[in-house]
Amino acid sequence: MKGMILVMDGMGDRPIKELNNQTPLQAANTPNMDQMAKEGITGIMDSIAPGIRPGSDTAHLSILGYNPYEVYTGRGPFEASGVALDVIPGDIAFRCNFSTMDENGIVTDRRAGRIREGTKDLVEKLNAMVLDDYKDIKIIFKESTGHRAVLVLRGEGLSDKVSDADPKVEGKAPAEVVALDGSAEAEKTADILNKVVAKTYEMLKDHPVNLERIKNDLPPANVVIPRGAGAVPEVEPINDKYEINSACIAETGLIMGIARFAGMDVIEMEDVTGGVDTNLDNIRDTIIDQVKNSDHDFFLINIDGADEAGHDGNVKQKVEFIEKVDKVVMSELLKLEDVYIFLTADHSTPISVKNHTGDPVPILIRGPEVRTDDVEEYNEFATYKGGLCRIRGSDVMNIMMDYMNYSHKFGA
Ligand code: ZN
Ligand code: ZN
Repeated sequence: MKGMILVMDGMGDRPIKELNNQTPLQAANTPNMDQMAKEGITGIMDSIAPGIRPGSDTAHLSILGYNPYEVYTGRGPFEASGVALDVIPGDIAFRCNFSTMDENGIVTDRRAGRIREGTKDLVEKLNAMVLDDYKDIKIIFKESTGHRAVLVLRGEGLSDKVSDADPKVEGKAPAEVVALDGSAEAEKTADILNKVVAKTYEMLKDHPVNLERIKNDLPPANVVIPRGAGAVPEVEPINDKYEINSACIAETGLIMGIARFAGMDVIEMEDVTGGVDTNLDNIRDTIIDQVKNSDHDFFLINIDGADEAGHDGNVKQKVEFIEKVDKVVMSELLKLEDVYIFLTADHSTPISVKNHTGDPVPILIRGPEVRTDDVEEYNEFATYKGGLCRIRGSDVMNIMMDYMNYSHKFGA
């Protein structure tokens, strides 16, 4: 039997006045999700714990059966796996921006005019970087989308207890990186990082990509500024842990990074952009194709748009996007019979807050031999009366494995 967890990113919400105190999911017309609720068992879920406001990354780790408090050391390692940079335990990874610095060392544009092209060439040059004082430290850059990039430091005696080089505002020099815990390892890493930042400017200021940008009146991407240090942790691959063959279908680098981190296969899709304007037909077709034709037996699926609408505080967009997913994706998933479908969200992104909150999210499980409850609608209010009651993200994989009959008995 196959199983999937379909995460509607940030779908949960709070009652909204202009929707007559309904949530967007309540107000949305979702006949297919409601049908699934009728056929399945429902409840609410705290993806980490009641009242904890999760990031998408920590929420997904928890839902996949990892303890985020153990494995989540910072954004860096997940950004690195998000851009498919092979990291190994002990590496220190950072998120970076390509920025613009003037000859006085002042950052004049933190995003280098939101540079879109040419960063691959810049990274190629940067990857030749060797520091005279630290010849044994491997310095690896990888470009991400737009002005973003990832930096990995590999070698002995490094630490992730270092501050950010990001000055956070324009008109200032890059912040001096300092050790946060006074350890020799952190002192060394901070020194390396300060030298790396200075060296990126040296190596990039006259790079052809930048000379061309200057010629076209665009801010040059002449410095790389790291932040969000994290040590790459040791984790048990999800396939070993649960004896599954797993795959991830997602739109954003962050979620793909979590999946790669857990050792899942990441399925490539065309024309999916994340956000409300994504190509839901492609997502649906990929899901159906994978479920029907691949050897994978477990899927993590993430659809991004509701979160974006939540962050933008756009009620109408959130309602419409939920309706669109129901119509385009859920209508077809409803036709799958021998598959366990867990439909949930990773956290709430209420319109009124424009950010993630700790409000629990609805969850439903639909599949063969599921004990159904009396809930006939899928939303935050209806599902709390459901038979699953209130569970945590860390329960999800156990419940899934139990339904799939992959679980081993605890005891005799
Ligand atoms: Zn999220
Ligand atoms: Zn979000």
